[in-house]
Amino acid sequence: MIIQLKKNITTEQKLSVIQAIEKVNYQVNEVKTQYGHYLIAVGKKEFDIRKIGHLKGIDDIHRVTDSYKLVSKKWRVHDTDVDLGDGIHVNRQQFSIMAGPCSIESPEQIDQTIEHLKTHNIRMMRGGVFKPRTSPYAFRGVGLEGLKIFSEKCRAAGIKVVTEVMQVSQVAEMHDYVDIFQVGTRNAQNFNLLDELGKTNKAVMLKRGFSGTIEELLQAAEYVFSNGNEKIILCERGIRTYETAYRNTLDLNAVPILKEKSHLPVIVDPSHGVGLRNYIEPMALAATMAGADGVIVEVHQCPEKALSDGQQTLNYPEAKQLYERLHATYALRKSFNG
Ligand code: PEP
Ligand code: MN
Repeated sequence: MIIQLKKNITTEQKLSVIQAIEKVNYQVNEVKTQYGHYLIAVGKKEFDIRKIGHLKGIDDIHRVTDSYKLVSKKWRVHDTDVDLGDGIHVNRQQFSIMAGPCSIESPEQIDQTIEHLKTHNIRMMRGGVFKPRTSPYAFRGVGLEGLKIFSEKCRAAGIKVVTEVMQVSQVAEMHDYVDIFQVGTRNAQNFNLLDELGKTNKAVMLKRGFSGTIEELLQAAEYVFSNGNEKIILCERGIRTYETAYRNTLDLNAVPILKEKSHLPVIVDPSHGVGLRNYIEPMALAATMAGADGVIVEVHQCPEKALSDGQQTLNYPEAKQLYERLHATYALRKSFNG
């Protein structure tokens, strides 16, 4: 059960609501976010909401039977709008494209990517500076100093920075240079990291764990929300299956299901999802038709020379064609849905 509290609720009023809930053996958690103030009540028995409905300071009460609560669609009338500032939003009203290299490599590479993005009116640039790599000998990123240059160049160009944070201690040091904190698939259940990101006011993009269920992804989002941050984007990026013909199995089933279960925007990462350049476009277009609110794709001025994930990275002409077809596909989908 989610109890939305009034902005001006007094401490006494709040305490009497909590006492009334605890009386029926429900456990209460208080959540304060940048947008709202809630009590999350969890218990076994049927709760008669008339027992608290008359109490002062309550705005609304919602019964939510899902195991995750705040990220569930069952209570929120309007879908979440992740506002990044400067007129840039990720939400269900439009189609978002995030693009850029797997890894930030050099200032020149950042400049080239920004030029490419500007040509296509894309306002979110991806690029890892801390790279989770299977081998410790592989390129592991340019680190915080590289992020500072990445951020400065993007700010000057009016572009938002999307980059992966790998551990709790990085949240504070990266904070001022990031617009969307990306949580990678390998950290999908790093609950301490999720807690910490929930205490910030920055957008958080949660990748699905490569062996994670849809419910586990939603619970990861619940961690961030319940720590105080409602700016969450869900990202399907493929799961590991028995199939070896491609890198991951992009689970497009997850898209309409996540959109029905949650009010959060859902984007798809076809680059990691399939992992092979030739199939990025068809899978991105399929994701769009499946209802994705956007995509995140790896692009590079010369994928053959990329320091990571070149095999799944598009060059600029390939990316241009993809963007055009994404817009056309999204328009087609909208014509179906009205
Ligand atoms: C990435 O986006 O470069 C990345 C490492 O993603 P994932 O965590 O989905 O593998
Ligand atoms: Mn990558």
